[in-house]
Amino acid sequence: MKKGLLIVFSGPSGVGKGTVLKEVEKDEELKIVYSVSMTTRQPREGEIEGVNYFFVTPQEFQEAVANGEMLEYARYAGNFYGTPRSFVEQEREKGNNVLLEIEVQGAKQVMEKAKDCVSIFITPPSLEELERRIRGRQTETEEKIAERIATAHRELQETDRYDHVICNDDLQKAVEEVKAVIRAEMEKE
Ligand code: ADP
Ligand code: 5GP
Repeated sequence: MKKGLLIVFSGPSGVGKGTVLKEVEKDEELKIVYSVSMTTRQPREGEIEGVNYFFVTPQEFQEAVANGEMLEYARYAGNFYGTPRSFVEQEREKGNNVLLEIEVQGAKQVMEKAKDCVSIFITPPSLEELERRIRGRQTETEEKIAERIATAHRELQETDRYDHVICNDDLQKAVEEVKAVIRAEMEKE
């Protein structure tokens, strides 16, 4: 059986990654499985353990890193985030396409380790619109919003590293573009 793809999906906080993915995942033919990350950040209202993230203490996170359980990890806005390795490998072996929704430092680690990965970066139409979306979500304090906007400036300078850069201006258009990239990769030898 053909091994599944490893898809790296990045973009600044609030650009709409979650919203785009929810639509993309509805297409069962794409055989996408979402890799649930481990994080030390506090759950937001409505977030579910094991679905959105595995919420852990800093100590638990460090133990997982020390035991070599992480494919990649990074510090972002004061918290640690990382991808458990075993799930990714098991699912790819089953022929499923594993999608990692991760920030740029972690993405860089994955691109170095897994040369065959497919990378997609989602950009906002403008930084003003990005800020509107983060605020509209009403999940972050002022301090965290400022930190995420500052990080977005840096992240937007790293898009050259990615195979595909897609602007999430019109949601449906962005969804179709992401699906087209995955379909094309699936058809490759
Ligand atoms: P991320 O997962 O990248 O942090 P979210 O998916 O939570 O971002 O989206 C942030 C906010 O932007 C949400 O309120 C969402 O409804 C909104 N949003 C997402 N895509 C679009 C779009 N194309 N146009 C306008 N608003 C959008
Ligand atoms: P949030 O706190 O908004 O859920 O996520 C903050 C940032 O961390 C986002 O850019 C998200 O893509 C990234 N992220 C989520 N999980 C991981 C992970 O496992 N590894 C890395 N490197 N980044 C992650």
